[in-house]
Amino acid sequence: MKKNEDKLCPSYYAKPGAELYGVVNKSGFIDYLQSTIEIDETFVEEANKGRDPEKRFRFAGSCAKSGCAQWNTGKKGCGLIDKVIDIVDNEEKTTLQHCPIRSQCRWYAQRQGLACAQCSDIIRKLEMKALEGEGIV
Ligand code: SF4
Repeated sequence: MKKNEDKLCPSYYAKPGAELYGVVNKSGFIDYLQSTIEIDETFVEEANKGRDPEKRFRFAGSCAKSGCAQWNTGKKGCGLIDKVIDIVDNEEKTTLQHCPIRSQCRWYAQRQGLACAQCSDIIRKLEMKALEGEGIV
């Protein structure tokens, strides 16, 4: 178990030791696993044979804080979730979906349920926004 102050980045990449916690379903939303699965080298090798694993799964790993380009030094927090909330723009729900990493999630620690309201939509909506930006849809 990690120390309380050690948060998990919920937008981590597929590398051995990362925690798999969600799978992108056919509608492009995230199905959250009951509990996390630590991935190994074999998983990473297999997953990299298809589309980018980060587009098909969600992984968590130790938040690198100031070692990450997304870290907002002034706010002493992850800047990515603030951008995601602005772009995806979902309203906070009264009930939170199940998520196996919530107690240690960096985004939840910073923005609570508002972060979770965007989370399942991230890959789907951000891809749509990217397509809109390119004039494709
Ligand atoms: S933002 Fe919420 S739903 Fe998403 S990974 Fe963190 S705790 Fe889970």
